[in-house]
Amino acid sequence: MTALLIPDNYRPRADLLAGKSILVTGAGDGIGRAAALSYARHGATVLLLGRTESKLEAVYDEIEAAGGAKPGIIELDLATAAEDNYATLAASLAEELPSLHGILHNAALLGERRPIADAGYKSWSTVMQVNVNAQFLLTRYLLPLLQQAPGASIILTSSGVGRVGKAYWGAYAVSKFATEGFMQVLADELQNTSNIRVNSLNPRGTNTAMRRAAYPAETPTNNPSPQDIMPAYLYLMGNDSAGITGKAFDAR
Ligand code: NDP
Repeated sequence: MTALLIPDNYRPRADLLAGKSILVTGAGDGIGRAAALSYARHGATVLLLGRTESKLEAVYDEIEAAGGAKPGIIELDLATAAEDNYATLAASLAEELPSLHGILHNAALLGERRPIADAGYKSWSTVMQVNVNAQFLLTRYLLPLLQQAPGASIILTSSGVGRVGKAYWGAYAVSKFATEGFMQVLADELQNTSNIRVNSLNPRGTNTAMRRAAYPAETPTNNPSPQDIMPAYLYLMGNDSAGITGKAFDAR
């Protein structure tokens, strides 16, 4: 699979996301936190979904202090949430918002990195629950609200090991292949029936807690920061990528 890149020297307008409501999963840390802050800085009302309330509150405070639109906080553990929780969440968002303009599916677990011959089923299924099933449930229940927007964008977060398999990356790699498959199936279904576009984005090596855990021998600052890769997250979320769907992108 050849991944696409965003246009060279892409410069998002300051008001790129003005008037849009965007949900970001895993918004309390790492790339999700940077995306939430960046989307808010470009005018969006951001719904911060994550499992650690204190981290979500810190992002909320940062957005408010910067003069951004008042965000929403959705505390939800994607490993344990039941289908009912997604249905309830979608119903309560539908009461508060006329439409939803985007979802950044970003939350993920790295899980165990060991040979499949030794992999534990519990860890395997938890990774699949967070990295695959939660994406399906959230998307499935929020589609009606996305359909209310004149144009909406769903970004699914991929990885290099979700495009070429690699030994010992186990459930994480398999979950990212599933994410690419989910992107392709959903994009194909929505292409001619809605104004929703669906693409995948591989951030590539980025200095976050997950990267540091996966590559303990690396010098963390040799990788770009989450902030450095935000142009790709803005491009795919905003109207500059209108009409692009079913594609796999690299952030750089
Ligand atoms: P981090 O581990 O730094 O952040 C992941 C975020 O997801 C955290 O906010 C975490 O919450 C949240 N999260 C994890 N499990 C759950 C759960 N059960 N319920 C709700 N939220 C949860 O990872 P990155 O920022 O590095 O990764 C972001 C995305 O980018 C992931 O999809 C990852 O696979 C992908 N990626 C990252 C790369 C990199 O080099 N960093 C490279 C390729 C892909 P909490 O803060 O509470 O732990």
